[in-house]
Amino acid sequence: MNDLSYILNELGEDREQYFRAISPPIMQTSNFAFKKVEELRKVFEDEFSTYLYSRGLNPTVDILRQKLAALDEAEDCLVFNSGASAIFASVFSNVQSGDHIVSVKSPYTWAQKMFDNILPRFGVTTTYIDGTHIENFERAILPNTKIIYLESPNSWDFALQDLRAVADLARAENIITICDNSYCTPLYQKPVAMGIDMVLQSATKYIGGHSDVVAGVLTGTRQMMKKIFDNELLNMGNGITPFNAWLLIRGLRTLPIRLERISNSTTKVVNYLKKHPLVEEVIFPFDPSFPQINLAKKQMGGACGLFTMVMKAEKMQQIVTFCESLRHILMAVSWGGHESLAIPRCASILPENFDAGNRAHKMIRFYVGLEDPEYLIADIEQAFAKAR
Ligand SMILES: *Cc1c(COP(=O)(O)O)cnc(C)c1O
Repeated sequence: MNDLSYILNELGEDREQYFRAISPPIMQTSNFAFKKVEELRKVFEDEFSTYLYSRGLNPTVDILRQKLAALDEAEDCLVFNSGASAIFASVFSNVQSGDHIVSVKSPYTWAQKMFDNILPRFGVTTTYIDGTHIENFERAILPNTKIIYLESPNSWDFALQDLRAVADLARAENIITICDNSYCTPLYQKPVAMGIDMVLQSATKYIGGHSDVVAGVLTGTRQMMKKIFDNELLNMGNGITPFNAWLLIRGLRTLPIRLERISNSTTKVVNYLKKHPLVEEVIFPFDPSFPQINLAKKQMGGACGLFTMVMKAEKMQQIVTFCESLRHILMAVSWGGHESLAIPRCASILPENFDAGNRAHKMIRFYVGLEDPEYLIADIEQAFAKAR
């Protein structure tokens, strides 16, 4: 049974093991005791088989692993102490000196820093491509290409890749595909079901959902998860702690209703912004004006929370004034929590380099949280009034 309600409320939980408590315990232990030498010998041979030491497997983490694997329709799952850890482990475990990676351009910051700063030290090179056209993948693949790295949608311009087409191409060439699914979560997109080998997401975002935990999820075949567990996870010691795993189990209980609420509110805020005279453009994958709307509708079950506005501004100061005038919407990185956020692209541009003719310089990324959409619209309205 893989019903969503079953996965979120029951799968992996066994109350008879813990005094019939409804909320599973936080198994706050570093190690586990054995009665038989033979049992110890077995676990030394295969630590992925049972509990030995909490840098490896832990019962609270296991409840979460089962739920997250089922949500992705994957065989197995590993949970890390950050999304960045999940990215690093998935890529690092599958390359060696002399290998080549094809990545979509402008992937998540720390994926790009890994490709640019760390992997070249080990003789691994990366080619970035515009992933909106399948021909660009075909052209970039070399005989030594081992991984195709995807992020669909991208979290700034929301560019999509045709996941089925890329998966088919990669299979034929024996290349491993990895997709960052943080934007959609498994509720709105299931890349494994479309043929992608490994799926990762920052659980810091929607899974946690309350801006109080940093964590990352990686799903794929049992064989691949075991390989990464035996090497990268145990060696780097970057697995999630039992307490943070418990927070994510709690977050999962309300994930569907949070996403539904956020989707409805986001549509309202987007429609308000599209009519505003100080807005040049709103970039949102489920908006009719989005260039890849057909692909979005084909491979995504929904879009929510995150979108980008291009502000009509002659000077950078107008964007600065707008962002600094927001009273309720907070200026911060990240997203996926209860609170709405805004972040201007110009924060990473020196003022003297600002170019009003460059659309990217005028981007402000919004995240719509759980507040009343009218409360958010009123906040944006008063900030626009100051930025005129
Ligand atoms: C936040 C984020 C990550 C990294 O996750 P952390 O939990 O912050 O390490 C990866 N990919 C995307 C798209 C993100 O937004």
